[in-house]
Amino acid sequence: MSTSTTILWYRQDLRLADHPALLRAADRGTVLPVFIWAPEEEGDWPLGGASKWWLHHSLDSLTEQLEGMGSRLILRQGNSLKVLSELIQQTGASAVYWSRRYEPAAIERDQRVKSALKQDGIEVKSFNGSLLYEPWEIETKAGGPYKVFTPFWKACRALHIDHDPREPPEGLISPRRWPKSVELADLKLLPEPDWDSQFYETWDVGARAAEDALNAFISEGRLGDYQEARNRLDVQGWSQLSPRLHFGEISPRQVWASVKAAYNGAPSLRKSSDTYLSEIGWREFAYHLLYYFPSTTNEPLREKFAVFPWDEDNEKLQKWQRGQTGYPVVDAAMRDLWATGFMPNRARMIVASFLTKHLRIPWQRGAEWFWDTLCDADLASNSLGWQWTAGCGADAAPYFRIFNPMTQGEKFDPDGDYVRRWVPEIAGLPNKVLDKPWEASEEQLEEAGITLGKDYPHPMVDHFEARDAALAAYNQIK
Ligand SMILES: Cc1cc2nc3c(=O)[nH]c(=O)nc-3n(C[C@H](O)[C@H](O)[C@H](O)COP(=O)(O)OP(=O)(O)OC[C@H]3O[C@@H](n4cnc5c(N)ncnc54)[C@H](O)[C@@H]3O)c2cc1C
Repeated sequence: MSTSTTILWYRQDLRLADHPALLRAADRGTVLPVFIWAPEEEGDWPLGGASKWWLHHSLDSLTEQLEGMGSRLILRQGNSLKVLSELIQQTGASAVYWSRRYEPAAIERDQRVKSALKQDGIEVKSFNGSLLYEPWEIETKAGGPYKVFTPFWKACRALHIDHDPREPPEGLISPRRWPKSVELADLKLLPEPDWDSQFYETWDVGARAAEDALNAFISEGRLGDYQEARNRLDVQGWSQLSPRLHFGEISPRQVWASVKAAYNGAPSLRKSSDTYLSEIGWREFAYHLLYYFPSTTNEPLREKFAVFPWDEDNEKLQKWQRGQTGYPVVDAAMRDLWATGFMPNRARMIVASFLTKHLRIPWQRGAEWFWDTLCDADLASNSLGWQWTAGCGADAAPYFRIFNPMTQGEKFDPDGDYVRRWVPEIAGLPNKVLDKPWEASEEQLEEAGITLGKDYPHPMVDHFEARDAALAAYNQIK
């Protein structure tokens, strides 16, 4: 076998287009694309159920794309270094290339793999396959990391980096003999018993579907409406690219280039495009923070929150998880998450605020639940999102800013479509009381066929009392 065989170690970069590691491997000669399933190497954060579902379908799609180029995807499971060493022995590969990851456990593992393979004389190279700006490319004037988004994003934009995506390789040279691969089903990524039926109705997975989703977001006018519509719960004003970006089915450079092409063609899109790209910027910021403050996956960035009087309460946590809090907008969002593996950003902020403020349950319990149930579960964005809402992270919303679930529902789901879809037992209530069924008159309840406490729960806490209790708790650490 050729000595110029390169193992392309696929991880969270499950695509062919705009893939620097794949391009360089293709330039070098024979390419052996490999994915290794090694959940025990993810530290405290092995993939959750929804992410595994996504990964299964994404690997399936990548296999199909590679086969379309006359190549294959070799699937293996076990210790990454061991598997790579075996493959090197079996194929005579002389190089291993991969796209960098930034999670603490992945960095530690990759460094170990790199130095062991290098000692054996293997050429090892890693590439940036998933960010516009790698964490260390951006620093404050004093030379440190940023903790506030606006100056971070300003510093990124000031670099005027060319974000043009690369084309996929024109062809891939295959090894004369392929090493053995396990079957995708052997990785057992799909749930048993299954709870994923609505996932199939919600998602098309894979790089082609990712590009379609991006194109539809732009061509259907959602990019133009993004500024206003991104916060709505009842209409899809967002792009739903997050799981696709997480698994690298599409790169932020591809997103950047398409958005830029759209506003170059239609200058009226400039403002909403800037807003949209700044959300991509929040993803970059999340990785910047994760890289410089790796403990923030489990610990608050603001140290004073280490002594916050949280209330660990499993029973309350379960009501929140199951969408049985008695607050319709919270329950709708939690049921949406369970059914589809997704929740719009506004809903994430509402339910996270409810958990950490109304219930004073530690944000880490919420982050864990999201980790298991979100298709886009991402250690950087999830840690940032939870710490931001709980008030203990970088550039965070202050703890004393407590979302009112009734007015949030009225404002962002004005006709109640979102609540009625996910909480059908109260669908018959008039809009005026839909977000606060406890204020419905006996007549209204009767007309809607609801007995509170039987068909739908009474609110598990009183909003105003819970708010006061949260503020009192915050005063203890202020
Ligand atoms: C408590 C909480 C937990 C979260 N957990 C995750 C998570 O595990 N994974 C995840 O990808 N996002 C997470 N987010 C961020 C955000 O909610 C999602 O990225 C967004 O809702 C995804 O939907 P979209 O692709 O339609 O977003 P769009 O509005 O279309 O935005 C485009 C892209 O920008 C990025 N983005 C948007 N908002 C944010 C943000 N606030 N932080 C970081 N990146 C952002 C995402 O990559 C997103 O795909 C979390 C937010 C909160 C408040």
